[in-house]
Amino acid sequence: MKPVLVPFSEVRGADHATAAIMRGSWYEIDLDAIRHNYRQLRSHLPRHVKIYACLKRNAYGCGAGPVASALAKEGVDGFAVASLLDAIAIRQEGVSHPLLLYPGALPSAAPTIESLDLTVSVSTIDELVQWRTAMTRPRVFIKVDLGFFRAGTTPMEANKILATARGLADVDVEGIYAHMSELPTAQPSDAHEQLDRMRTILREAGVLGLRPAVVMMSSTEGVLNHPDMDFDAVDPGALFFGLSESDKPTRPVTLRPALKSISASLVSVKRLDASLGPVPAIFGTNPGMTIGVIGMGWGDGFPRQVPSGAVGLIRGKRARLLPPAHLEHIRIDLTDVPEARFGDQVVLLGRQGDQSITHEEVATSWGTDIVGLYAQLRDHVPRIYTAKQTRKGNPQ
Ligand SMILES: *Cc1c(COP(=O)(O)O)cnc(C)c1O
Repeated sequence: MKPVLVPFSEVRGADHATAAIMRGSWYEIDLDAIRHNYRQLRSHLPRHVKIYACLKRNAYGCGAGPVASALAKEGVDGFAVASLLDAIAIRQEGVSHPLLLYPGALPSAAPTIESLDLTVSVSTIDELVQWRTAMTRPRVFIKVDLGFFRAGTTPMEANKILATARGLADVDVEGIYAHMSELPTAQPSDAHEQLDRMRTILREAGVLGLRPAVVMMSSTEGVLNHPDMDFDAVDPGALFFGLSESDKPTRPVTLRPALKSISASLVSVKRLDASLGPVPAIFGTNPGMTIGVIGMGWGDGFPRQVPSGAVGLIRGKRARLLPPAHLEHIRIDLTDVPEARFGDQVVLLGRQGDQSITHEEVATSWGTDIVGLYAQLRDHVPRIYTAKQTRKGNPQ
């Protein structure tokens, strides 16, 4: 798909399409796929379990604002992000749902956090004291570390912090949450041990009358494979973008990828002639070859080194990308595509005609996995949003 230039004022999202045209390169994000993935999750969860969509890293590269707006219309209960910038993007879309900040924001940003009506994470008494000093009435989730060795209070300290926070009249304790370990050393049995640690904390909290309204510990892996971890709410992220590492999840959801294509354009086409001197050996040995230049480079998320075997689709044909990559440009071998012209679209992921480059192919070629591929999407590259649903304001 190619974006069409529309006046800025006409439709929401026109800014993305306009930017895509101005830049000549863009990511195409399938909002229907994201909605589908949300509905899949919702239909497999008990009704009372709330969904806080984790939209960290700019919604896994797909754009926190537009993704939040789509999920809000689907009925999602809240959101969670690590960066205040993602929280701002969500609020700027007019989305006023509960929004939890994972560890990342600092008390120096308290005025912004208060004006955006955000909930902060607290793992230690020191954090609690600092947030309370910086804010008039902090809203907090206590974060527990169940064996990830990252942020979060240890299970032993959890109820001490919970009791301290709940004892403060100017602090609202909205919930307690944890993120299951995803360390490379994690074993399947670890999940149960972590769940046991959470249950022990909650039992004690219950006896002391400290249990907050929301208990949450399931990200994508948990919500797909451990229904006993549902508690009051879940906060998966990757799932909404079609990213799951489970082949046969306990909850048999079918997920669709959110990233439909990575597109760039030919910004130059040239037939090499002898006046340039010998063709460098790295391009292959064809002296009269035609090369194209694509307006996307390693500064745009493409790997620093062009992977061997990497291709782009142009005029419906697969064409070899030529090393080395540059900050803003990559060369493409047009020997077999003599009809290629300045301005042509080059697809680096996705379909063109009857050819396609899959997520798996790109992830392997880039030396990463599919989550890593999404993480490599750059915020400055425009995203265009496609959906079969009619535009806002039009009759449905
Ligand atoms: C990233 C993260 C999630 C979501 O993880 P996914 O694997 O993307 O579902 C949930 N909770 C916390 C605390 C996180 O950091």
